[in-house]
Amino acid sequence: MKGMIDLKILQYYKPTNLEDAYQELLKDDNNLIIGGGAWLRLTNKVINKAIDLELLSNNKIMTTNTDYEIGNLVTLKEVEDHEGLKRLMSGILPKAISKIMGESIRNIATLSGSIMGKYSFSDVITPLLVMNTRLVFYKQGEVSLEDFLHTKKSPKDILLKILIKKEVGTGYFHKVQKTSLDFAVINLAITKGSKIDIAIGARPSIALKPVKAIEYINKAEKIDELIIDETVIHVLNEIKLGSNNRASDEYRKELVKVYLKRGLNEVMTDEN
Ligand SMILES: Cc1cc2nc3c(=O)[nH]c(=O)nc-3n(C[C@H](O)[C@H](O)[C@H](O)COP(=O)(O)OP(=O)(O)OC[C@H]3O[C@@H](n4cnc5c(N)ncnc54)[C@H](O)[C@@H]3O)c2cc1C
Repeated sequence: MKGMIDLKILQYYKPTNLEDAYQELLKDDNNLIIGGGAWLRLTNKVINKAIDLELLSNNKIMTTNTDYEIGNLVTLKEVEDHEGLKRLMSGILPKAISKIMGESIRNIATLSGSIMGKYSFSDVITPLLVMNTRLVFYKQGEVSLEDFLHTKKSPKDILLKILIKKEVGTGYFHKVQKTSLDFAVINLAITKGSKIDIAIGARPSIALKPVKAIEYINKAEKIDELIIDETVIHVLNEIKLGSNNRASDEYRKELVKVYLKRGLNEVMTDEN
């Protein structure tokens, strides 16, 4: 029937070592790694072989001297509840996650699946972009989240873990949505650690950093109201927004003007 979701999984496979999982992934374009399976469940894909990494379980959040290391089976809820991440950059990542659907979805969906899907509506990619995030793949090794997002097609590889730098600083995240279960009309994240970083997501395209505007604000000797206003203008000139069924381009511009200014003022005054 038209409009019905009709996901088909022809074979289900639980490998016991990573090389085996990787070789299975390469064998067929329609062989896929399954994260939480929450988003895949909503698609009409025909998956030839679903590769479940459960037996290679990496469902832990570890801390090293420099990073938080989030395993590929860690759910959004586990990230949301993590005490260290709640303190990192004013807790913008847990805050962003807490706004995604209900707890039942957040208990299933993984952070890895949220990144690998490169969803344009993503509420997690926006804060991760301003948190010095790197991805560790089985074959490719370490790649910055920004470089990963710049490549059009996701690599045929297994995401093993996500590294987020431990940095002292403050952060701001804001999501505008019509109802609590809707996708974002726009979302913004700002951090101020050793420098100021900005990302805008759900533009409605995938989240981006306004690199020239970021350079502009970080070059300023003193960040005052004038510099903040100029930064907002630079961001609007640099980042392409657009219209879709959730909001018009003009409305998104107004939202960015208000919340970017508010966020920059907030990170400038917050003491962490
Ligand atoms: C009803 C619903 C509403 C949602 N609303 C929002 C929202 O408002 N905001 C928001 O940000 N998110 C939203 N999401 C998305 C959700 O937060 C997750 O991002 C999404 O479910 C993907 O995570 P998953 O673990 O389910 O991944 P899956 O669906 O299992 O996989 C997603 C993709 O990632 C690949 N993948 C997964 N793990 C790996 C790995 N380790 N290595 C390589 N590839 C991998 C899969 O092959 C697949 O291509 C929503 C999801 C649902 C189901």
